[in-house]
Amino acid sequence: MVGGGPAGTTFALHAALAGLKVVVLEKDRDIGVPVRCGEAVSDAGLRIFHDPDPRWIRTTIDRIRLVSPDETVIEFPLRETGYILDRRIFDYDLAVKAAEAGALIVTKAYVNGLLTSPDGVCGVTGRQVQEPFQLRARLVVGADGVESRVGRWAGIRTQLKLKDLESGIQKTVSGIDVTPNIFEFYLSSSWAPGGYLWVFPKGKTMANIGLAINGVFARDGKAAHRFLDEFLEWKYPNGAVLSTVAGGVPVAKTVREMVTDGLMLVGDAAHTVNPLTGGGIISGMRSGLLAAETAVEILKNNLRPTRERLKAYEQKWYKIGGKNHERLYRLKEAIYRLTDQELDAIAHRLVSVPEDQLSLFKMFSTALRTKPSLLIDVARLFTGI
Ligand SMILES: Cc1cc2nc3c(=O)[nH]c(=O)nc-3n(C[C@H](O)[C@H](O)[C@H](O)COP(=O)(O)OP(=O)(O)OC[C@H]3O[C@@H](n4cnc5c(N)ncnc54)[C@H](O)[C@@H]3O)c2cc1C
Repeated sequence: MVGGGPAGTTFALHAALAGLKVVVLEKDRDIGVPVRCGEAVSDAGLRIFHDPDPRWIRTTIDRIRLVSPDETVIEFPLRETGYILDRRIFDYDLAVKAAEAGALIVTKAYVNGLLTSPDGVCGVTGRQVQEPFQLRARLVVGADGVESRVGRWAGIRTQLKLKDLESGIQKTVSGIDVTPNIFEFYLSSSWAPGGYLWVFPKGKTMANIGLAINGVFARDGKAAHRFLDEFLEWKYPNGAVLSTVAGGVPVAKTVREMVTDGLMLVGDAAHTVNPLTGGGIISGMRSGLLAAETAVEILKNNLRPTRERLKAYEQKWYKIGGKNHERLYRLKEAIYRLTDQELDAIAHRLVSVPEDQLSLFKMFSTALRTKPSLLIDVARLFTGI
């Protein structure tokens, strides 16, 4: 297992619970650090895997606030509770759970290549601290995140188109006034072109404030950090920045091939992020779980993990989430084409709707009325044309 993020440790937990011998190689010194994430998850998503532990949760969210380009505010209750996690604790605890199930977690272990045989991938090479190592394995799992090289080394096409890679930056800001139970999103080409800006509270005086801009806009010269600095200067000029993180978000379709002989990809490495929201914690964990189920079935029966056999994982992913994932991808393409004027027009229509009648569905149907050509995109969404 290459990578100790939530996708990797979820695989490790379930494979180890089923009796497989698992080694997790993580290049960083600590699991869970640095945090390159807004840390937002839904209660329902988290509960697929674990009962939420209060230590993981910084804030519980039950409302959403959307701010349109001309600062029209739409706010309504969420049907589903959400959380802002503390991922340093969450990721660490996931690794502890995997270790308790029997997985070996090795930090400061940087994987720099694959071992191969005529049958396919059969291990990894790397360095732990300064010591080179080779580790043979019946199966290698690439859970090495958005910058994954494991897939590429194995000959899987993992390159992202510029339009499918968002450039994300986030600062944890303290000494500010925020409402602790609200997810706040700012939508405008001047705040975050081809993406959105978020304010995710971590209590009443602290928040993760970040944005992701589409790679196409990043190319045009103004870097994501400049958009964020301008927003902070405008909205929270007296906030103290406690940390800054930057990273790519693959808002793409899942890689066409999630497996090859002797190797599986999970999480960001396989592009399992929800392309509409950029959320990848839960979907990454889901892919880790599905991959583990397939690996257990093959390895416990002493079968060789050939590409053909491992494809069962790909099929399960597609059945459980993959089709929806493709729809979300097309929806993202449609929504990101809305202009600031169109976003304002939608917000103006919604602002007079009583909040108990507001929902994400209502917003979408209003968007359709405001921009009927979206219907064509929606038709494409469901027909796949
Ligand atoms: C700015 C930003 C905000 C985000 N906000 C949210 C959010 O609010 N909610 C949400 O659900 N998702 C969010 N995401 C996405 C989310 O962070 C990822 O989808 C999630 O972390 C993916 O989990 P993973 O286990 O696949 O990869 P990662 O968490 O990236 O873990 C990969 C691990 O592999 C290790 N690794 C990499 N290469 C090697 C190597 N060669 N050898 C050994 N180890 C290696 C890395 O050090 C890392 O620990 C955000 C992303 C960004 C960039």
